[in-house]
Amino acid sequence: MVNASDLSIQSVTKSFGPNTVLDGISIDVRPGEFMTFLGPSGCGKTTLLRMVGGFGEPDSGRILLAGRDITHLPPNQRDCGFVFQSYALFPHMTVRANVAYGLKLRKLPAAEIESRVATVLSMVGLEAFADRHPKQLSGGQQQRVAIARAIAIRPSLLLMDEPLSNLDAKLRERIRFELRALQKQLGITTVFVTHDQEEAMAVSDRIVVMNKGHIEQIGTPAEIYGEPASLFVADFVGVNNLVPGKVREARGRTVMVETAAGLLEASHRSSSTGENVQLALRPEMITLVPAGQPASAMGGELEGTVRMAAFLGAATRYEVQVSDEVVLKVAAPAGSPPHALGSRVLCRWPVESAHALRA
Ligand code: ATP
Repeated sequence: MVNASDLSIQSVTKSFGPNTVLDGISIDVRPGEFMTFLGPSGCGKTTLLRMVGGFGEPDSGRILLAGRDITHLPPNQRDCGFVFQSYALFPHMTVRANVAYGLKLRKLPAAEIESRVATVLSMVGLEAFADRHPKQLSGGQQQRVAIARAIAIRPSLLLMDEPLSNLDAKLRERIRFELRALQKQLGITTVFVTHDQEEAMAVSDRIVVMNKGHIEQIGTPAEIYGEPASLFVADFVGVNNLVPGKVREARGRTVMVETAAGLLEASHRSSSTGENVQLALRPEMITLVPAGQPASAMGGELEGTVRMAAFLGAATRYEVQVSDEVVLKVAAPAGSPPHALGSRVLCRWPVESAHALRA
């Protein structure tokens, strides 16, 4: 339905007074890709998205869409569709008129407008609602209209700023999947902004993790989840075992880290001997077995005592005291054998799932 375009953000900087909001940001979005800017409030993601859409100009750097320099073009010459957090529908217009609005502005023939409106409304499952007004729709339906309106103009680029954050949790989850499916069906290059890491994981091809105006990591959801590049990313995406230590020895792809719980091996990016690090380890990467079992080939292993056990249905959460100062959180999948409070256990994990991150 659309010609997928690539977007190239090149060394973009922006300050508001003394406040540097974007500090030399470069991102390449591939044709048809669903790219998400993820980060905490104030990291600059909205400012960057607005610049791509033409609502604000960078102090320096360039933005190219399909090879064309759009850095200084007004929004209406950029060929972008927008979906905002607030649906921004025209309240006095029907759903049909809201979706047709941008097409009328573009002076398309009436028959073409009618057919496009019908197509996009059926894509978002709202054919039957064409004659209603926004206030007669639920929040989820209104947001679908906003999406239909944005894609009706067949933009080269779809820009979405926290489009799901006004919806309740259940609806948000459903619309995530609908949005992802629709985007793939259309093949439209999409930039999505959110501060919700779970949402980013669910919808994106790749994620840009931003912090204070710079990029911490760009990667697929699996990379961001499994191989966080920095302590900030690990913390932001909820790696909740962080064990402080010092690099004793670097051995190519792995390092030996001296921690309060002993010497542990971990993967790393660029750590060197003597550096202070935090060892990041996901609770679900740790397997528990009763103490006294023969050694395993997994690599990482610590013995400890179960201090807390909470059955949560899909998983059981444990806390295992492995030294005076170190407690490991463990998430054991449903169906794994239970471990009683006070029992001695071995925590085991694959070496490559532990990451030494500069402290
Ligand atoms: P949020 O999720 O809260 O919207 P964000 O990551 O999208 O956060 P931005 O809205 O891009 O962050 O804002 C980044 C920083 O720039 C903030 O410190 C904000 O106060 C500041 N800022 C944004 N727009 C302006 C402006 N027009 N004038 C002055 N400061 C601004």
